[in-house]
Amino acid sequence: MTVERIQLLGLNHDELLGFVLNDLNESKFRAKQIREWLNRGASIDEMTNLSAALRAKLNAIAVANPVRILESYRSKIDETEKFLYALTDGNLIEGVVMRYHHGDTLCVSTQVGCRMGCAFCASTLEGRVRNLTPGEILGQVAAANRHIHDQDPERRVHNIVLMGSGEPLDNYDNVVKFLHLVNDPEGFNISLRNVSLSTCGLVPRMYDFAKEGLPVTLSLSLHAPNDEVRRKIMPVANAYPYGEVIAACRNYVEKTGRRVIFEYALIKDVNCDVKQAEELARRLRGLQCHVNLIPLNDVKERNLRAPSRQDVDAFLKRLTLKNISATVRREMGADIEGACGQLRRKVLDLN
Ligand code: SAH
Repeated sequence: MTVERIQLLGLNHDELLGFVLNDLNESKFRAKQIREWLNRGASIDEMTNLSAALRAKLNAIAVANPVRILESYRSKIDETEKFLYALTDGNLIEGVVMRYHHGDTLCVSTQVGCRMGCAFCASTLEGRVRNLTPGEILGQVAAANRHIHDQDPERRVHNIVLMGSGEPLDNYDNVVKFLHLVNDPEGFNISLRNVSLSTCGLVPRMYDFAKEGLPVTLSLSLHAPNDEVRRKIMPVANAYPYGEVIAACRNYVEKTGRRVIFEYALIKDVNCDVKQAEELARRLRGLQCHVNLIPLNDVKERNLRAPSRQDVDAFLKRLTLKNISATVRREMGADIEGACGQLRRKVLDLN
């Protein structure tokens, strides 16, 4: 039987200190050295200021980063880079880094697969395999950060979006721990104002999350102007009605002072005629929010397609006329299966 190794990246300050003092019988100073290596995305073997004996001892019981970049694909169009990561148990997850003027944004996964069952999403097709640990969520940041830094020392992960595979609020405790870890000044020191969490709308967890007092931007995957349409494409709408989801968003705005972002994937013949834009505008009236329109990334397994460019523009125009702040999301990495879950599936299909 293999014993689970400790994921050093998943330990906060006190936990790492306790581990070094009690499990390794080493001094406090070693914790500081190990932390510096972890921040650089190093493996235990690379921690060259630790003795060979200590590294061997560490290797037997721990892993520095449980996430390894297995393959990367760089877009020729816009420098977007997609990663296929391997976890220590052989599971695969994926992520993507997008290069913007204001810095690099990394899209991070929170689960292997997903159990939310949205009709248009590739991540959910085989259900949820398991939750990611805090060390595995942070491990994606560490691995990607090292990778882009090696390409260009000026580059580092500046923004994080929890929009990869999985439903972050369905892995609540690990995601909250990850947020504290990534924000730690001794660690990656990424401001939580630069982090967005995207959820399909697990209402009770949205209220819990508002109470955490973290300045994270909430993105809500709405994708419909009412329950009738939403239930057709998002099973979660059967559990939490539209009005309750919007009320939970309103509460988040009140508690955090931050506007909510609504994600709205435009799907041909489903949710994108102008009447539906008007209905959406009515439902969102008075809420501090922004609507991100995303022409659907076709998923070949499902018969759902993006609308025409004219239909996208007409939808946007109608929302804007009704005083709803909205934009169409720029498509990035179109040549590298940029959309969530698509790459992992392609690789799984091959095997
Ligand atoms: N489970 C979370 C986060 C992961 S998905 C959530 O539901 O928000 C990140 C975003 O990509 C979500 O808004 C999701 O609805 C959207 N998405 C998934 N598949 C898509 C597709 N084929 N085209 C466009 N957007 C998609």
